[in-house]
Amino acid sequence: MQNIILFGPPGSGKGTQATRLVEKYKFVHLSTGDLLRSERKRETKLGIEAQKFMVKGELVPDSVVIGMIESAVQEAGDVTGFIFDGYPRTVPQAEALDALLASNEMSIDRVLVLDVNEEESTKRLLDRGKTSNRKDDQDESVIRGRYKVYLDYTVEVAGYYEPKGIVVNIPGEGAIEEITELLASEIEAIA
Ligand code: ADP
Repeated sequence: MQNIILFGPPGSGKGTQATRLVEKYKFVHLSTGDLLRSERKRETKLGIEAQKFMVKGELVPDSVVIGMIESAVQEAGDVTGFIFDGYPRTVPQAEALDALLASNEMSIDRVLVLDVNEEESTKRLLDRGKTSNRKDDQDESVIRGRYKVYLDYTVEVAGYYEPKGIVVNIPGEGAIEEITELLASEIEAIA
């Protein structure tokens, strides 16, 4: 059982790489962004509430995402391992995830950080916004705001895991296949 956090700013390729790693290793991919968009599509109370934050590029409150991820982990049952994508994004989320995993006799094995700078992130998301119907990818100020939220609240999550010696930085700018290879060799290095 291996559990990985795929970490990095918006547009760093977490979703793309998670899909490729799932094919290779049969992880269960849990993306809070995808879970929230699915709630919104089904017009649940949670989805409608979350949407107000998402369109502005702000973080959805911790209590909402923590509860959502707890349900998703319990529903997944017995699995080979999880790839968490877009979660945890704050230190309280990281603490809640550790507690949840510990109560299921699991823990995080690696935090793989995809490094992508603000200009590249902005360029990629504006591009994605042309073809996806994600409103948060269609407004440059919202995109830059999300990068700032990453710097202000999310980067410290890597600091939270640092003392455990499980954080690895990977260059996120390069060919998709090469980045998958770098991630794969880190996953295979886990004892
Ligand atoms: P990206 O990585 O491109 O920003 P995501 O799909 O991960 O896209 O997230 C989209 C939005 O969903 C975020 O801007 C935020 O509003 C909300 N969101 C996703 N995950 C979390 C989380 N763990 N905590 C709070 N808000 C979240």
